[in-house]
Amino acid sequence: MIAKTTVKPTARLVEVFSAIQGEGLNVGTRQIFIRFGICDLRCHFCDSAHTWNAPSSCHIERSPGLRDFEIYSNPISISMLVEWVTRQNLPSLHDSISLTGGEPLLHAPFLAQFLPEVRSLTNLPIYLETGGHRPEQLPMILPYLDSVGMDLKIPSVSGESHWTEHQQFLQLCLDANLEIFVKIIVSQRTDPGELERAASLVREVNENIPIFLQPVTPLTETQKFSEVPVLAPLPDQVLEWQALMKKFVKQVRVIPQTHKMLNQL
Ligand code: SF4
Repeated sequence: MIAKTTVKPTARLVEVFSAIQGEGLNVGTRQIFIRFGICDLRCHFCDSAHTWNAPSSCHIERSPGLRDFEIYSNPISISMLVEWVTRQNLPSLHDSISLTGGEPLLHAPFLAQFLPEVRSLTNLPIYLETGGHRPEQLPMILPYLDSVGMDLKIPSVSGESHWTEHQQFLQLCLDANLEIFVKIIVSQRTDPGELERAASLVREVNENIPIFLQPVTPLTETQKFSEVPVLAPLPDQVLEWQALMKKFVKQVRVIPQTHKMLNQL
């Protein structure tokens, strides 16, 4: 008889570090960030294009907030990541663990084994930041999540279109009783008709899901990869769009990327 071997999934990471969350519902809280490599979208405004492809190595902060990074080769194992996260978890320092990227759900089999372990060792809530376009992967990790921030991609700004997947994704989160919010990046190119469609989509799932309009942060010369200009919206546009969406859902908040103002990672 041939013995069955179980292959433990591995992951390709970009970095692990401790910092202040600058976006959405958790803004201002301190999190342990786990940034996964690889993304299958190509948003025009992406400031993390370095995460799109499988990186050969990752940067791991040794002490929370000290930026004393060590470099390790990818892929990495579950036990390595558990060790790196637990050593960051000094008593009472962090509010939660952020899974970000890239697209973390491209590592769903890894997360399904990693999350229960890290949750029981740290007792920290788990927050997922996602493009919200992969509802088929979400059920694998839903039982281990506490909150989800879903980017709803507006085609006029992002160049991506995933309306059906976004709706399925939100419904799955709601059915699992997770804390959810939706983030929409807006620029001068935003089509108000798409914002109306987005607000109506969210209302169909639940009108109490907060929507965060996030004025795009213009990219630096080295971050630019697309010919499409990425310009922050005008003050009047933001007010007009918030009023438009407020007709559909209870909360529409406008918050720029505050971690950039604080010079956080
Ligand atoms: S989903 Fe996120 S990481 Fe992927 S291209 Fe869009 S902004 Fe960049």
